[in-house]
Amino acid sequence: MSNFDELLRNNARFAATGAKDRVPAIPFLPNKQVYILTCIDPRVDPAQLFGLELGDAIVARTVGGRVTPAVLQDLAWICYLHEQKTPDADWFEFAVMHHTDCGSGFFADDDLRHGFAARGFDDAELAALAVLDPAVTVPDDVEKVLAAPAVTAGLRVSGFAYDVKTGLVTTVVPPRSR
Ligand SMILES: [Zn+2]
Repeated sequence: MSNFDELLRNNARFAATGAKDRVPAIPFLPNKQVYILTCIDPRVDPAQLFGLELGDAIVARTVGGRVTPAVLQDLAWICYLHEQKTPDADWFEFAVMHHTDCGSGFFADDDLRHGFAARGFDDAELAALAVLDPAVTVPDDVEKVLAAPAVTAGLRVSGFAYDVKTGLVTTVVPPRSR
């Protein structure tokens, strides 16, 4: 018995549909030409919020939707692939989306954070991950992406905030490139 048993039964039904065939081929560009970074919070699933179907978007998720070195490496890799494999195709857009009531806010709790840092993590780096106000952290993370040398200079990057109470996504940083 596993918590995944039901999911695997759902998957068998999915595999029997034609959905898997209506996707782009490798080297692929997502159907909607978007790449979204957001929080791992299960209330913040981009497929649900934006009405995305299979193959529509590249989605990266971290605690808080924060831009980390791993996020930048993945984005740089996709940029590089785009340049090498599909140089004549239109570019996708990248967006950072943070949300209200984010669990990453617990990183701002000194006692709680110190206890976790003692497990082998850098206290200051952890403190910087807290999303207390998306209007503040989204512009910071958009800047990190725009400043990353390995990310293609012309890539358009924007920033959004999702309100878990209203279900609405608002623009914090309109799309721009380096
Ligand atoms: Zn969150």
